[in-house]
Amino acid sequence: MVNAEIGVIGGSGFYSFLEDVTEVQVDTPYGSPSDSLFLGEVAGRRVAFLPRHGRGHHLPPHRINYRANLWALRSVGVRQVLGPCAVGGLRPEYGPGTLLVPDQLVDRTKARVQTFFDGLPLPDGTVPNVVHTTFADPYCPSGRKAALAAADGRGWQAVDGGTMVVIEGPRFSTRAESRWHAASGWSVVGMTGHPEAVLARELGLCYTSLSLVTDLDAGAETGEGVSHTEVLKVFGENVARLREVLFDVVGALPATEDRDCLCTHAHDGWELGIELP
Ligand SMILES: [Zn+2]
Repeated sequence: MVNAEIGVIGGSGFYSFLEDVTEVQVDTPYGSPSDSLFLGEVAGRRVAFLPRHGRGHHLPPHRINYRANLWALRSVGVRQVLGPCAVGGLRPEYGPGTLLVPDQLVDRTKARVQTFFDGLPLPDGTVPNVVHTTFADPYCPSGRKAALAAADGRGWQAVDGGTMVVIEGPRFSTRAESRWHAASGWSVVGMTGHPEAVLARELGLCYTSLSLVTDLDAGAETGEGVSHTEVLKVFGENVARLREVLFDVVGALPATEDRDCLCTHAHDGWELGIELP
């Protein structure tokens, strides 16, 4: 039986660390996800890993099929999702190697579908209703708690809370944009955290971001500005301990049937019009 309870959407180097991986291709009403799902076991839990950018990193942030990714995970049984990602630090104290578990999000993307409930028919003819999902608290409180405790247990003092601003990309920010983001009080800047978080919520999935700072964004320093090479280098240096932390989080998450967080109430009071997988 092919199933999983916890999903990890992350960088391409990760799935090979799961033991006894089963590769599963999943199709969805929204098209194909970024790649196959790689199913394995971590800390006695069934985990599905999905390389966010596809194998070989061929998908830039704005071309990722976020709806297909979340739908595919839910369709194999996933109800809790961990979303490790690389971000730029917007404060001098959030230098490379900082791990931040955000509690807020600002959407500055421009051209991404960010709902399942758009009133447009699915291939099978069913039509989702228009639904306005509550999103005041975009991240799962239980997942955040587990992530912070797991990092702490590995001697990695993570930043508890902060705001991730998500830009369209794929280019990095100008200095003026970066100064503006920092002056707004936001903590880190990324390119994939949205609509991943809201689509998870729309499907009633718990979603937790583990944001690894790979650089100080353009306005937070006076150097040359961030480069892709620098991002890859810092991510590579930290991927091993990030994997350890993720494994610990997986083991600490509540059982699917024991969830009682706000994420499980996303659909309260709404008629969805479609059957979720
Ligand atoms: Zn939750």
